[in-house]
Amino acid sequence: MEITASVMTAPNEPLETVTLELSDPRPDEVLVRLAATGICASDAHTHTGRIPSPSPCVLGHEGAGVVERVGANVTHVGVGDHVALSWVPSCGVCRHCVSGRPVLCTAAAPALLAGTLLDGTVRLHRDGRPVSHYSFLSTFATHAVVPAASAVRIGRDVPLAVASLVGCGILTGYGAVVNKAKVTPGSSVLVFGAGGVGLSAVMAARVSGAGQIIVVDPVESKLEEATVFGATAGLVPSDDLVSRIRDLSGGGVDYAIDAAGGEGILGQAFAATIPGGTIVCVGMPDVDARPSLPGPELVRDEKIVTGSLYGSSRPSLDIPSILRQYAAGVLPLDRMITQAYDLDRIDHAFADMRAGKLKRGVVVFDEQLAGLPAPDPVVTLAA
Ligand SMILES: [Zn+2]
Ligand SMILES: [Zn+2]
Repeated sequence: MEITASVMTAPNEPLETVTLELSDPRPDEVLVRLAATGICASDAHTHTGRIPSPSPCVLGHEGAGVVERVGANVTHVGVGDHVALSWVPSCGVCRHCVSGRPVLCTAAAPALLAGTLLDGTVRLHRDGRPVSHYSFLSTFATHAVVPAASAVRIGRDVPLAVASLVGCGILTGYGAVVNKAKVTPGSSVLVFGAGGVGLSAVMAARVSGAGQIIVVDPVESKLEEATVFGATAGLVPSDDLVSRIRDLSGGGVDYAIDAAGGEGILGQAFAATIPGGTIVCVGMPDVDARPSLPGPELVRDEKIVTGSLYGSSRPSLDIPSILRQYAAGVLPLDRMITQAYDLDRIDHAFADMRAGKLKRGVVVFDEQLAGLPAPDPVVTLAA
């Protein structure tokens, strides 16, 4: 079938909105008509070449839509089901999957890096030439063929614009707090970065009952927005940042979430955490980053430093759970949406993201299904 997609021909080249040929789903795949897709920082980092990926490709790795066809082996979703997409199609049988840690699944990684689906081939072609997939999903398109394990069935009561965000940034930030840090009621939580992932960590800390949620971000307006999601204090980085955090938290926080990944942040998070506390690294550092920690304190203070990939989640359980919490009014996910963009203006969204103007930008393909809550403010942000 013919679809409309935004194609990255090469890093830093303008995205092109064109007609592509999308092949039929194979036995373990699903064809999804997208209602909406979120625009994530990783898409922008791939466009600049900071994250290497084959091109030409169709970017986009968080989306939601309606199942249009299923392969012969697919039983967990059917035609007409609403689905949110996960970019970790876990195999279910490797040692990580059977131990309950599907985001560490070893089956998917080679295909993800190669820009193919799980069988090592592509379903996308432009004028007969192959076009790579991105993170199995390639949601900057009207339709996508994805691995069956990437399609997570969700309730029909959830606007698909909201559901489209859950499959990457929200799950990553929420899961770092709930699944990895396991934040306890009354505790103090420090979050570096007030973008989509950081704000999702803030929301999760609030629903976990944290008594104090301190957010650090260089953009002051983002700190104000963070209070909407549950932050109790906001700090702009400074030379005395760690002592300010210690003062605010009565000696140090119980948990620190690094949703930024920038140079020096892990050291600050470590120093601002109390003995016995937990530091979770979520934001992706540069490929050659080699952060250092004070060895004696690591031993003496029994601090736990850990990474968290994709919210250390079990996507097929966590995505519906997060959306039920949205439907119940507990997680204000719709407030993450700053701006809707047309498919041919995604590079404007990248520019707005780099300028710190976006919590989350979305592309809407079907307004009715997306049920896009009025983004505030409804303005075109890019010049
Ligand atoms: Zn992402
Ligand atoms: Zn596996």
